[in-house]
Amino acid sequence: MSVTEMSTSMATTESGSALAGARAAFDSGRTRPLSWRVAQLEGLLRFIDECEPAIAAAIEADLGRDPMASFMADIAPVRHEIRHTLANLARWMKPERVRSGAAAAPGRAWIVPEPKGVALILGAWNFPILLTLHPLVGCLAAGNAAVVKPSEISAATARFLSEQLPRYVDAEAIRIVLGGAEVSASLAGQPFDHTFFTGSTSVGRAVMAAGARNLTPVTLELGGKSPVIVAADADVDVAARRIAWAKAVNAGQTCTAPDYVLVEESVRPALVERLLAELPLRGAQDTTRIVNDRHVARLRRILSTHGGEQYGGAIDESRRSVTPALVTDPDPDSELMQEEIFGPVLPLISVPDLGSAIEFVNARPKPLALYLFTESRAVEDLVVSRTSSGSVAVNHLLYQLLVPELPFGGVGASGMGNYHGKNGFDTFSHRKAVLSKPSRPDLPMAYPPYGRAMQKVLRKLMG
Ligand code: NAD
Repeated sequence: MSVTEMSTSMATTESGSALAGARAAFDSGRTRPLSWRVAQLEGLLRFIDECEPAIAAAIEADLGRDPMASFMADIAPVRHEIRHTLANLARWMKPERVRSGAAAAPGRAWIVPEPKGVALILGAWNFPILLTLHPLVGCLAAGNAAVVKPSEISAATARFLSEQLPRYVDAEAIRIVLGGAEVSASLAGQPFDHTFFTGSTSVGRAVMAAGARNLTPVTLELGGKSPVIVAADADVDVAARRIAWAKAVNAGQTCTAPDYVLVEESVRPALVERLLAELPLRGAQDTTRIVNDRHVARLRRILSTHGGEQYGGAIDESRRSVTPALVTDPDPDSELMQEEIFGPVLPLISVPDLGSAIEFVNARPKPLALYLFTESRAVEDLVVSRTSSGSVAVNHLLYQLLVPELPFGGVGASGMGNYHGKNGFDTFSHRKAVLSKPSRPDLPMAYPPYGRAMQKVLRKLMG
């Protein structure tokens, strides 16, 4: 047996046993009652509250990000999601009565949200707590057991989660598995009842193909190029400040980061001038490193092949840092304009009018987010109705993720399914249809062959 075969076989054994353990806990029935769900969510909250400094230190070790930025991006949103879920869970779990309708009368009909069973959560490294625990909140709220695989790329946070989280939750029902791509791939091939993956479109395809063998439903939280449209009537000062801030967050390694800007010709000079002032300022406030040498090399490549005019973008390989760059008029066929950037590089292209901006967006894969800067409700309505994306934010960026009742997820190449708030609960629940009828009356005329009078009645009832 080769070394690769041996590690694949070990990964299969480990992932199979994690699933079997979590399945045994689920089959015991203990994960279903409200009390278990609340206890797990409270445990998660205690984990965040008691371990916040250590969590921030682990993220700093992985990404160089300072603790306040981790509080804003990883810790506070998870805490908020748990509190929102705890406040609403009993209501979400209630069966929903529906009318049984004339054809099925007499009877009572309702929908029960039931747990799917054991879910697999494959986390991502760029927000290693948020993108691992946020989906787990919906998963546990829905009464499922879970196998959680944090990203091996954020190794310190993954290790911390695996060592500490089991102390706060039902460790038999919630299993943390560590390992690399071979472990993730092996887990994705196991017969889970749901797989929730966050990462790139290419790995998303592999996860979906692996799930297909067992008919495991998948939620794919992917990425892509999220455009910003700056209309001629935008407040350019504010637009530049907010775009520069959102691009700098986590050194641009954010799935919903503004990827590139389409600006109406008339405001281009003012926007370029403001961006050149804001980008270095916002970049200096973010301490996050590029996650590994592979990504630094990728950013170096896209900065040397874009064919446009570049401002900024100094690379320090030893510190794995890239200063924010603005690239005007890049070649549309360059890697910069073809692939998701995932770094602090902002291409800018001018368009003659709004219609051309919409055409540009619609000629490309559907993005995870679309941003628009305008002062006009008509422009807002036009862009929202003529484009398709996971989400839209007008006159700001990233804040759409903080509204718990807004579904977060992609469309087309940027993903499928969604979560956040009740949407997460629904993703991890099966909405089971129930009809309950009385045994009597049990009229012989209700069975075939139908007499003429009954045929009339049935035609009327069943339309
Ligand atoms: P990636 O997609 O390459 O994922 C790496 C992870 O995938 C590793 O942890 C590995 O264990 C796992 N993996 C590799 N092969 C696998 C397989 N065959 N089956 C199952 N798992 C496998 O990650 P990346 O490229 O470093 O991440 C960046 C991407 O993730 C960007 O595209 C970004 O937009 C996207 N992203 C999306 C969201 C979101 O919420 N939508 C959040 C963060 C990142």
